[in-house]
Amino acid sequence: MGPDGVVRGDLAVQEGRIVALGAVTATGRDEIDAHGAVVLPGLVQAHVHLCQTLFRGVSDDCDVVDWLFRWIWPLEQRHDAASMRASCRLAVAELLTSGTTTALTMESVRHTDVAFEAAQELGIRATIGKALMDRREVGTEMYGEDTASALADLERLIATWHGAAGGRLRVAVSPRGPRNATPELWRRAVELATQHGLTLHTHVDENREQAERVALSGEGRDVVALDSWGALGPSLVMAHCVWPDEQELGLMSERKPNVCHCPSANLKLASGTAPVPEYLERGINVALGCDGAACNNMLDAFQEIRLAALVHKPRLGPQTLPAGQVLELATMGGARALGLADEIGSLEVGKQADVVLMRPAGLHNTPYRAAEGAGPGALERFASPLVYSSTGRDVRSVVVDGRVVVRDGVLTTGDTAEIVADAEQQRAAILARLARPVTPDSS
Ligand SMILES: [Zn+2]
Repeated sequence: MGPDGVVRGDLAVQEGRIVALGAVTATGRDEIDAHGAVVLPGLVQAHVHLCQTLFRGVSDDCDVVDWLFRWIWPLEQRHDAASMRASCRLAVAELLTSGTTTALTMESVRHTDVAFEAAQELGIRATIGKALMDRREVGTEMYGEDTASALADLERLIATWHGAAGGRLRVAVSPRGPRNATPELWRRAVELATQHGLTLHTHVDENREQAERVALSGEGRDVVALDSWGALGPSLVMAHCVWPDEQELGLMSERKPNVCHCPSANLKLASGTAPVPEYLERGINVALGCDGAACNNMLDAFQEIRLAALVHKPRLGPQTLPAGQVLELATMGGARALGLADEIGSLEVGKQADVVLMRPAGLHNTPYRAAEGAGPGALERFASPLVYSSTGRDVRSVVVDGRVVVRDGVLTTGDTAEIVADAEQQRAAILARLARPVTPDSS
């Protein structure tokens, strides 16, 4: 898949960038046989929590408020560096082997360095944010931190990690939600993001009851509050956006923040279905994301791709979000959300070599219609089996920044057996800690 549709031929990479597409005569130092395979741009997810991967399956069948209060905040509060490391490495290994080459992630209040280390080690392109939380919901076990400490840690992370690994790692500024950070922290966060050219990332209008409850506060609904703090603009990525009202839709149309659509998480937590076609109609950029393994419960972008193509059709008709358009959201939509549209999201000469090779040769995606050739409708023929009948398990090879990180389905940058064993051990350890009460300074 090239910039304007489907290209048949080779793809050459040099020093981390795509240097030729189509007919390539030179021989390479490291060649991947792509006969019978489809090659597509690396998938970009714009909302993931690496830190929640250890919590997969512990908190099924509840709504988002219950899920946060009863499980996620108590569990995140009990992360130590070892459990955080296990969670992040498991997440990155799953993302890479299922074709996600770039992720925008929101981590917890502490141990954010560990997330960067996992991304650095395993080779994913990542924009990672520490969860900024200086407002505590009474009765919960997520203590957060004071405003000055949150900002000091964020500034330290920017100095340490932004632009690291040859630019592959970037820092996001991510207040957890409009109500989890004070207006003072929000305003300082926006200033820092502007000063350093960073992506702002937060959760918006995820749950209907919550969205209506906060509307009664002096700050108004989520998008209204974000606008009053100067946060609403093209550098902001808002996860979910399931329940905007007319005023919020109007503000979004004007200020052009990005939306990250997370259909699995929205269905599983019974949050609803975001009005994605309405966003696209208004020229609002939409990306896709798995959210976390604690509420998805997978990090396979192909699940979100399939659902994004399906969930809007009952309301608006079968032609809503056809396969080619959804594939665009999963690649260029994410690249635009991250401010990286000139660098990633499509296979074009000069762009970073973030490439996924798939062999849709399983029972579930045979016969493969792309074999019918190029010409009119080729993009839809190419996209259809990827969107409607493929999964991350069809991914064979993955290249990030010109480096082969998955070859023949196997992660080359880490030992998956060791990653799984570590995750099992650290999951048991953190669940054991869950039985003990915590105070702000006890972990
Ligand atoms: Zn989330």
